[in-house]
Formats: sequence, structure tokens, C-alpha cells
Amino acid sequence: MSFNNLGLSPELKQAIENKGYSDPSEIQQQAIPSILQGSDIMAGAQTGTGKTAAFALPILQRLQNDETKRRRVRTLVLVPTRELASQVGDSFRSYGKNLRFRTSTLYGGVSIKTQIDKLKKGVDIVVATPGRLLDLINQGYISLSQVEIFVLDEADRMLDMGFLRDIRKVIAQMPDRRQNLLFSATFSREIKKLANSLLNNPVTVEAAPENSATELVNQRVIKVDQKRKTELITKIIWDGNWHQVLIFTRTKHGANRLAQKLEKAKITSAAIHGNKSQSARTKALAAFKKGDVSVLVATDIAARGLDIPLLPHVINFELPNMPEDYVHRIGRTGRAGASGEALSLVSADELAYLRSIEKLLNVSIPSEIVEGFEPTKGPVEGGKKRNNVNQSQQRKNASNNRNYHRNKNRRRGGKDRNHNSQDRKRDE
Ligand code: AMP
Repeated sequence: MSFNNLGLSPELKQAIENKGYSDPSEIQQQAIPSILQGSDIMAGAQTGTGKTAAFALPILQRLQNDETKRRRVRTLVLVPTRELASQVGDSFRSYGKNLRFRTSTLYGGVSIKTQIDKLKKGVDIVVATPGRLLDLINQGYISLSQVEIFVLDEADRMLDMGFLRDIRKVIAQMPDRRQNLLFSATFSREIKKLANSLLNNPVTVEAAPENSATELVNQRVIKVDQKRKTELITKIIWDGNWHQVLIFTRTKHGANRLAQKLEKAKITSAAIHGNKSQSARTKALAAFKKGDVSVLVATDIAARGLDIPLLPHVINFELPNMPEDYVHRIGRTGRAGASGEALSLVSADELAYLRSIEKLLNVSIPSEIVEGFEPTKGPVEGGKKRNNVNQSQQRKNASNNRNYHRNKNRRRGGKDRNHNSQDRKRDE
């Protein structure tokens, strides 16, 4: 399928051509026609699938269809993080560069005055994180009473970050008659509940990004003691002469510590996490993209929404305790058709996490031991037995459940998920 068959205007097609896109991605092929028809959408798509263009292009087209209503907020995109807000705002500006709409990006951590000044001049599209948006609504600088299209982007992450109440407050500010588009990488019970209350007769679209992303990525595991991970990672980066490496740690302190240790080992590094100011995060990311910094150490939430094309190496310094986060992390490599490598350093106490990840992906990730870094602690007692149980469960899953998301929802339900989101909030 080509972009010519999707019913987009010449102005939008020109912008797409300038971006150098040849064909629409899977999620774009599925979502664009339905959005153009005015349907509500429930889309299963994560970063890296082209999901932003999947909603931005048809939204711009719909706004263009009725250009008489200018400079009132006709589209609201709600996103979980500042980085994603900035990125989605840039996408609207770039796809809409031949149209005369104004996009405003609203998030905290930067001057509110500049945002107010822009709102006063009138805008058509607002991309916002919930906190700053509600602040501006309460101060009377923005009204959502004319919103025609509402996008909830990365809805799963929004809920994980505790934004449900804020989302409901924002929804209450909009007219009932509007088009709603919900994008989420995963579909837990909570997301489905939110979708039921938000969407009218939604068309469900789903790219199989996580499977395809994982197919493109060469995944491997190195088993090593926790206390020797920094030494090993330094060796791997030095020996391989790796540049542009994204390393994930579980905590922000861990990210800081690792970046400092790598710097000491003469590997230029920067850390990004929730405690860093917005300008520090933007600066670190820009330095990384330019190649001034070889390694970016990030926590899961801080890395959410980062657009770093063609990243060759992703390293999990620690495995995440939620297997879905592993999929998000490795989705940072092997993007847009390029192959990449995802390396995980796994200590004995993380073997259970590894098993959950393998179960979710329904693959066995090859594991190795590096000479001189042999783990001193063996696998947890009874590991072998549990492994066997796992494999039989895995087989059962594979045959019973071809639906990847259904698979994930089961694991995300209940206490465990709440516990993890608490952990995450504490960390960020
Ligand atoms: P997203 O999933 O929206 O974060 O997009 C991921 C990356 O894919 C971004 O760098 C986009 O510029 C790029 N992209 C989006 N659509 C296409 C397409 N049809 N062809 C090639 N690249 C694309």
C-alpha cells in the first residue's frame, strides 16, 4: 500500500515525501482510513511503529477539511511525558508544515509564561501532559470546549504513572460529541475499562510491533554477578568500540552511579531520569544524538517517548520487573527496519524476571558467560524444576493464545501490577 491510497491531501503527501517515508507502516495503513471516516479508535501500538503519524496525519486532514474554524483548540493530544509531548508536537508541526495550523506543546518543568503567550495568540492543536494542562485550564488560559478530536497516547503508561484522575478531569472539560483515539502498547483491565468509558463503537487496530520489533532485534543474555556488571559493561563497550549505547537501569540512583563510573572509565556518558530537570534531559539527549556522548543511561519512564533512530545497542544493566518494559526497552533498537542488538546482564536474582520475559515473548533468549566474569552464585534453588514447569506453561500459552495482548493482560492484573507501579512512582 502507498500513501497515495490513503486519502490524504496534497499538502500532507508533500510533507510525507519530504520526511522520506516511502510506504505507510502497518498501524498507519490500518488507522488512517478509520480516523478519516470519523471513527473512534482503540489502537495497539508502541513507539517505533509510526503511531504518531498514524493519528497526526488524519487529524491534520480532518482539520483541513474545515478550515473556517481557526485558532481554537480543536485537537487535544494527552501524553505521559515531557519528551513525548515535545516529540509529538514536533511531528504535528512537521507533517503540517504546508498547512497553517498552530500546535502548542504544554508540559511542566519549563516556563509557563511562554506557553501562556502562545495560547493567547490562539492555537489549533494542543499536545500536553496532564498536570500542566490542568494548571493552564484552572488559570483560565485554555478552554477545551471546542475540542473535536481527543487522543490519549501511550494510555498504559499514563495509568502506570498515576494519571487516571487527571485524565478524567481533562475529559470532563471537553464536549461530549468528539472523536476519541486511544493508543496503548498494552491492554490491562484498567485500560479496557477506560476505553469502554471513553470510546464509542471503536474500531480496533493493531500493529504487531512488539513481535516484529523483537524479531528484528538480536537478543542475548550474559549471566554475571550483580557486583561485576559495571566492570563487564565497561569491557564490552571498550572492546566492541561501541558508540550510541542506551543502557537501562531500574533506579535513578543506579543510572547516576553507572554514568559516573563509565565516565571514570573514559566512556562519555549521561544519565536521564525523573529527577533531572527538563533542560538537563533535553541536553543529554541532544549530546547523545550528536555523538558527543557515547552512552545514555536511562530509567524506563525517562526513556519513554525518546526518538533515537537507528540505535545499534540497547543494554539492560538490570532486567525490568515487568516483562512489558523489556519489550519497550528493546524497541529502542532495530527500529524502522534496521537491525540492532539488545544485551541483558542477568544476575542470579533476576532469573525469574528473565523467565517471565521469555514466556511473554515465547522465545528462549540465548545466554552466555564471559570468561573472567563467571557468576559465583548459581541459579536459585529449584530453578531447573521451575524451568520445566515454565516450558510446559509456555507451550500451553503458545497454542492457547495467539493474541499477544491477551497474554500480557493476564500478567498485568492484580496485586503484582499495583506493586510495580508503586515501585515505579517511587523511583521516578
Ligand atoms: P513513532 O512510532 O511515531 O514514534 O515513530 C517512530 C519513527 O518512525 C519516527 O522517527 C518516525 O519519523 C518514523 N516513521 C513514521 N512513519 C514512517 C513511515 N511510514 N516510514 C518510515 N519511517 C516512519
